[in-house]
Amino acid sequence: MKKKQDFNIKAFHAEYKKKKKILGPFIKNIHRRKIKGLRTLVNKTSNDVWKEIDCTRCANCCKKMTPTFTQADIKRVATYLNMSRQDFITKYLEKDEDGMAWINKKRPCQFLGKDNLCTIYEVRPYDCKGFPHIKHSRWLDQRGVFETNMEYCPATLKMVELMFEKITGHSVTHK
Ligand code: SF4
Ligand code: SF4
Repeated sequence: MKKKQDFNIKAFHAEYKKKKKILGPFIKNIHRRKIKGLRTLVNKTSNDVWKEIDCTRCANCCKKMTPTFTQADIKRVATYLNMSRQDFITKYLEKDEDGMAWINKKRPCQFLGKDNLCTIYEVRPYDCKGFPHIKHSRWLDQRGVFETNMEYCPATLKMVELMFEKITGHSVTHK
């Protein structure tokens, strides 16, 4: 079994920059390809990703991105913290650019502990639970999300890279 990777932000940025020229167009246009057995391929590949990547050594999504908070998330987390819904919103949240969704005011997320673990793990937002969505049931519809997220998330970059290798038969670095 491969040792899980330690996360090094500089090395990850360099890797992303090197691979995005090939992986960006690949994931953007993946819906135009005929892929046999996509569901099985996605399930198997995402299992391969998690054999290599350990989120507790990374937490880059909690540092660089923000989850969206649904009304149910706000109620659940506020209750967990013994706060009113309104106090929770005032203290931690703001509306996104479109004015539609509640997001964190600051990055890193205020709930990220010094040990890289989520301090509200049991009640964390639904968005955090599903992230990075690499096994999503409507996988092709997520291609735009993957294209954006692979800049920040090693698991997403690895997923797209492995899918590229399995579908095209080429290695990204030796194409
Ligand atoms: S709520 Fe927890 S899992 Fe979600 S971004 Fe914040 S620290 Fe990360
Ligand atoms: S989901 Fe991605 S960015 Fe977040 S901790 Fe896991 S590998 Fe890192």
